[in-house]
Amino acid sequence: MARIVVKIGSNVLTRRDGKPNVTNMSAIVDQVAHLRRSGHELILVSSGAVACGRGAVTPTRQLDSVAARQLFSSVGQIRLINIYNDLFAQYGIVVGQVLTQKENFSSRTSYLNQRSCMLTMIENGVVPIVNENDTASLTELMFTDNDELSGMIATMTDADMLVILSNVDGIYTGNPSDPDSRLIERVKPGEDVSGNVVASKSGFGRGGMGTKCGIATKVSEEGVTVIIARGDRRNVLVDLIEHPEAVPHTTFEASGESLSTVKRWIAHSSSFAKGKVIVDENAEKVLRGDSAVSLLPIGVISIEGEWEEGDIITICGNTGTLIGVGRASLGSESTRSAIGQRGGRPVVHYDYLYIE
Ligand code: GLU
Repeated sequence: MARIVVKIGSNVLTRRDGKPNVTNMSAIVDQVAHLRRSGHELILVSSGAVACGRGAVTPTRQLDSVAARQLFSSVGQIRLINIYNDLFAQYGIVVGQVLTQKENFSSRTSYLNQRSCMLTMIENGVVPIVNENDTASLTELMFTDNDELSGMIATMTDADMLVILSNVDGIYTGNPSDPDSRLIERVKPGEDVSGNVVASKSGFGRGGMGTKCGIATKVSEEGVTVIIARGDRRNVLVDLIEHPEAVPHTTFEASGESLSTVKRWIAHSSSFAKGKVIVDENAEKVLRGDSAVSLLPIGVISIEGEWEEGDIITICGNTGTLIGVGRASLGSESTRSAIGQRGGRPVVHYDYLYIE
């Protein structure tokens, strides 16, 4: 039995004219019902609110992108959730709607609160259907796209697998429409296939294959298997679980090491950082090495920003590359006065340190 998060992209859920693609939605619901009967637990992360709303309402005047997103998602989200509700009801399955925002992941308390909401739904047999609350999200603090959101949901709920259903079969060695491109079937832990991705965006949704690839790499390194596949293929979900050889897809193998809940939160928190610590080459080497180490003042060259103990900070090399993210054990003032000193309290303790 596995806990599976399924992310369904706007292009799978909506037709070209912006109407919900009930055929695809119904096929996905049938498969989710089948997998539940086999004992699996499912969580859906469903896009499509903005795309569906666009097909349902014509603005009376030209709207800026924020107002348009708010208007369309407010209308589209209920359409989508109503269709899901009706389709699942035919199987006697109860669904619940979770509309969330990046801010709900910004502190450990709000992260744990969101986590416990999801776990309680699952425990009670409810299928969570998650989307970003596009009516309220601030542009500067939004998820990059629902691929990022689905990655956070998968790691947060300790899922075994994240399946990203898109309009292509997976990651190709070049442009998918180029006959010379080949589908990459397996990506090993630590392997970087991002160089193969041709910059493009997939029609209606916000994300593209670049973000999918980045998220898949990160989430698999946190211990969750990630699969990218085409959402409108017949029986794709069931086949991926029961006969994976029968369906083209890309699998990002999960690394053997599974991160603790707190590290998983920190891993996805760099956008909430209050400050930055710049470390020397030696510290960078040690931090990136295999042993479990904390960040000590002796390795710090300089700091930027003001923070308090418990805030999120980023750790960068002296050339500016991001090395990691951590929850500070020392505030910025104490860190500044301890720069370069041997001994003393760590700036970030190992248990609260995530290395990129
Ligand atoms: N939350 C957006 C929607 O429901 C989708 C974002 C994305 O495309 O990833 O329309």
